[in-house]
Amino acid sequence: MPDISAGNSTRPTQAQLAANAPARGDDRRAGPPREGPALLQGLLVCGKCGQLMTVNYHRRCNGTLVPDYSCQLEGIATGTAPCQNMAGAGIDAAVADFVLDALTPLAIQAAITVSCELADRAADADRIRATHVERARHAADAARRRYLAVDPGNRLVADALEADWNQRLRDLNDAQDDYDRARRGTSPGLSDAQTERIRALASDLPALWRDPATPMRERKRLIRLLVTDVTLLKTSEHINIALRLTGGQEHSLSIPRPRTAWEQHTTPPETIAIIGEVVADHLLDEAVAILNGRGLTGGWGKPFTINSLRHLCRARNIPALRDRLRADGMLTREELAQQLGVHRATISQWRREGLITGRRVDGRGEYLFHPDQQAPDAPRGRKTVRPA
Ligand SMILES: [Zn+2]
Repeated sequence: MPDISAGNSTRPTQAQLAANAPARGDDRRAGPPREGPALLQGLLVCGKCGQLMTVNYHRRCNGTLVPDYSCQLEGIATGTAPCQNMAGAGIDAAVADFVLDALTPLAIQAAITVSCELADRAADADRIRATHVERARHAADAARRRYLAVDPGNRLVADALEADWNQRLRDLNDAQDDYDRARRGTSPGLSDAQTERIRALASDLPALWRDPATPMRERKRLIRLLVTDVTLLKTSEHINIALRLTGGQEHSLSIPRPRTAWEQHTTPPETIAIIGEVVADHLLDEAVAILNGRGLTGGWGKPFTINSLRHLCRARNIPALRDRLRADGMLTREELAQQLGVHRATISQWRREGLITGRRVDGRGEYLFHPDQQAPDAPRGRKTVRPA
């Protein structure tokens, strides 16, 4: 748990100077928080290669500045493509939510309870060690008294008692050392005032965090108090976020990979499949009416037009009705005219009179004709136009 009771002086403390120092030199790990909305600036590690990741910003259409995180130090040095690139806003939000969750009043209460229990246990251990010291002191006093009480003429006994007294003094010394060392190692428990202050901070924190008046720098500072570093790994579907907290714990989060602009404006595969079916059997104008009637939209969320559908079919290699019928062996007017040895105009005339069958394939009135059709007999003295 970081020391959030630290003073609020405007002059940089030694600790802050030390924290800022790594911003210089090659290993710019955890540099000081800068202005700019990237919450995790300076804390990011690439999950692919382990290098530090950098922040770039881009501006959205509405003018807001949004961060992108990329691993490009190697790329810049060697002139190759960045190792990883990802949009930062979703990652920042996930980490902020995690930290705010971790600092709920409930979680803080649990931490305070544990801290009090540890303080109680430390006090118990302290009492036991103090008893050891006391016992050693009594033993040393008794040994001294025995030595002083012996007849000085009895040299052998006096030597033995003197050795015993020395031993007891060494025991006392060791016990005292143990006691002092243990005392130095344990921090005093939280005072009631400190506990109250922490509780108040925890319940104010979410509001303070979301307050637009709170400078981004302060949010970044808070994150740095709690998070040592954040390792990012982008997979095809997710961004995996591994957090190392100041206390040494590790946490992992996963968010869906933000869709790129291209993906956001791409017609979804299900729609493409439906378009394929509809277009295979209908003219573009009919298909547009059917698709819009079903409430389907293209990549930009707008209704289809004949033009947009034509472009989409071309871009996605979706065969239009004409292509499909041609593939099925239907003939153009010219082909049928040649087959039957008549003029093109005759074919059109026969079609209009229902003597041969065809199918309209575009808005301009082009028809394709079923193959293997016979020239109608020319009864009733019909004049057949023969090619010149
Ligand atoms: Zn990398």
